[in-house]
Amino acid sequence: MKGVTMKDTMNGSPESGQRGTPTRVSVGSVVFLSLAAASLCLCFTSVLGQEPDPAIGDVFSLPDCPILDTPFDDRTRVFTDKGRELRVCCMECKERYYQESFFVMSKIDEQLVAQQKPFYPVTTCIVDDKPFADKDAINHIFRNRLFRLCGDKCRESLEKQPAKFFGKLDAAVVEKQKPNYPLMKCVVSGKTLGKDALDHVVANQLVRLASLEQLDKFNRTPGKYLEQVRKAAEKERSRMQ
Ligand SMILES: [Zn+2]
Ligand SMILES: [Zn+2]
Repeated sequence: MKGVTMKDTMNGSPESGQRGTPTRVSVGSVVFLSLAAASLCLCFTSVLGQEPDPAIGDVFSLPDCPILDTPFDDRTRVFTDKGRELRVCCMECKERYYQESFFVMSKIDEQLVAQQKPFYPVTTCIVDDKPFADKDAINHIFRNRLFRLCGDKCRESLEKQPAKFFGKLDAAVVEKQKPNYPLMKCVVSGKTLGKDALDHVVANQLVRLASLEQLDKFNRTPGKYLEQVRKAAEKERSRMQ
């Protein structure tokens, strides 16, 4: 088991662990920027001995605090535990998380499966490409992302090579969802999606942003924006019927 980090930063810091975009920074600069952000908001406790946040993995994509079920806003507490980003709405919830982390983590994983399964792009195991019947697939949440796998061996392979399989799953999501993407405009800025548009995948959902500049704002409340894209897609589907 990985150690628990003591760091607690405000939302939207560069530690969010974006994948597959040129914004990804080296661990060294992440630590430096986190330090800067942490000392600015005076909530810095200890960075020494802290593990770097996983460079590969999704931001915490649920729209509500897993403890109180209240929607996230700008006061969201972002932290890492067991190699993944987590968010709660306030310091009290963070304390409660550590008191009942097994229970809360199970609830989070259940909600992430429910959130992501409808968007899952393939009916094969992402590791060995074997087809499986829906009921035989293992729903495995790894660094906040749902992977549907055929067995424990493939789970081990995934965890050994996260970059490879996050990349493979991201590509499958883009291929499946881009042709039917429901919005002409950036969900964050409202700007028209042009040639600089960024195809960003989080929680097995494609989100198209006008440019890289919108990523920071997106990462402050990703769950909210994912829901907006999902609702737009539902509206589009009912219009087509
Ligand atoms: Zn809360
Ligand atoms: Zn497999």
